Amino acid sequence: MTISSFIPPHRTLMGPGPSDISPQVLQALSRPTIGHLDPLFIGMMDELKSLLKYAFQTDNEFTIAVSAPGSAGMETCFVNLIEPGDKVIVCRNGVFGERMRENVVRAGGDAVLVDDQWGEPVSVDKVEKALKENPDTKIVAFVHAETSTGALSDAQALGALAKQYGALTIVDAVTSLGGVPLLVDEWQLDAVYSGSQKCLSCVPGLSPVTLSPKALEKIQSRHTPVQSWFLDQSLVLGYWSGEGKRSYHHTAPVNSLYALHESLVLLKNEGLENAWQRHRTMHTKLKQGLEALGFEFVVKEPYRLPQLNAVYFPQGIDEASVRSHLLNEYNLEIGAGLGELAGKAWRIGVMGYGARSENISLCLGALEESLR
Ligand SMILES: *Cc1c(COP(=O)(O)O)cnc(C)c1O
Repeated sequence: MTISSFIPPHRTLMGPGPSDISPQVLQALSRPTIGHLDPLFIGMMDELKSLLKYAFQTDNEFTIAVSAPGSAGMETCFVNLIEPGDKVIVCRNGVFGERMRENVVRAGGDAVLVDDQWGEPVSVDKVEKALKENPDTKIVAFVHAETSTGALSDAQALGALAKQYGALTIVDAVTSLGGVPLLVDEWQLDAVYSGSQKCLSCVPGLSPVTLSPKALEKIQSRHTPVQSWFLDQSLVLGYWSGEGKRSYHHTAPVNSLYALHESLVLLKNEGLENAWQRHRTMHTKLKQGLEALGFEFVVKEPYRLPQLNAVYFPQGIDEASVRSHLLNEYNLEIGAGLGELAGKAWRIGVMGYGARSENISLCLGALEESLR
C-alpha cells in the first residue's frame, strides 16, 4: 500500500479553536527554515517579543512564546510560580479553572477553591472573602475568557483585589488575547499565558507568556528548583534574551514562530482596539441571526464573550449529525459542548481572522438549512 501526501480540505473553522488562519500567515509558515541561532532569526525573535508586548499591553521584559500549546503556557506559569506548600486561590467556573486546580495540586501547592456556576463569571466578592479567610494566600489564579462556557471575568477587578491582599495573579488569557481588552500592566496582572490558535489566528502549538517583575522575583527566590526542566523559565530566559550570546536551550519551532510573527504584524497593523471592535461587530451579527433562528445564549449579555458564542440548540435534534452535516456539506466546523454543556449547547467561535462577515453569513445560512 502506498501512502500519498495528505491534502486537507479547506474548512471554515468556527469552533473553540483552532481558528481560521489568514493566507498571509500560512505563507509565512512555508518560508525557508533557517537556524534557530542564526542572527537573522534572533532578530526576528526580538521583534516577536516587542509585538507580543503590544498584544499584551505590557512593558514586561519577560514576554515570550513558549514552544508548545496553551496548556504548556498554563503549566509554565504554575510550575514556575508555585513552590510546595504555597496557598493558591483557584477560581473555577468551567473546564479550564478545573485544569488550574490540577496544576496547583501537581506543583505541590495548596488549592483553595472559589466555585461559580458554569456560564457565570468569577465572583469578585467570593474571591475577596477567600482572601480574607486565607491571608497567607500567595497566588490568585483565574481564567479571563472561559472557552467552555463563553463567560468573561473581570480581570481588572480581580487583579486589583489580589494586589490589595499582597498576592500574585496567574491569568489564563488563551481565548481573550486579541479578542477582548486585556491590559496586563494597567490591570497589574503578574503571570499571563495565551495560545496562538484562538484570536491570534496562528497555527496551534505556541503559547505567549508574560511575567511581571514581581513574578520573576518570586521565581528567582525559589528554594526548590522548578520540577520541569523544559518549562523552567530561568533556563529559557537565556535563550530568549542576552545580547548576541544566546545559549541553546531547545530548538525553537522556527517556522511556527514566523507564522506567529506574521499574525502579530497583522494585529499591530489593524490596531488592538479595531480588532476588539471587529469581534464585537461580528458577534452582534451572529447573535441577531442565531436569535432569529430560535437559539438561546448560555451566558448573559453583560459578561458574554464576543469570540465564543455558547448557545443551547433546539431540543429534540440530533446535534452530532447536524454538526457532521455542517462539516460535510459546508466544510464548516462548529464546536460541541464541553463538560457540563456537552449534549446541551454548541460553541460557535468568531475568532481572529474568522471574525468576518462571510463566515457569519455562511454559518447562519448553513444552520438554517440544516435545521430545516
Ligand atoms: C484552548 C484553551 C487552553 C488550552 O490551549 P491549547 O493550545 O489547546 O493547549 C487553555 N485555556 C483556555 C481558556 C483555552 O480556551
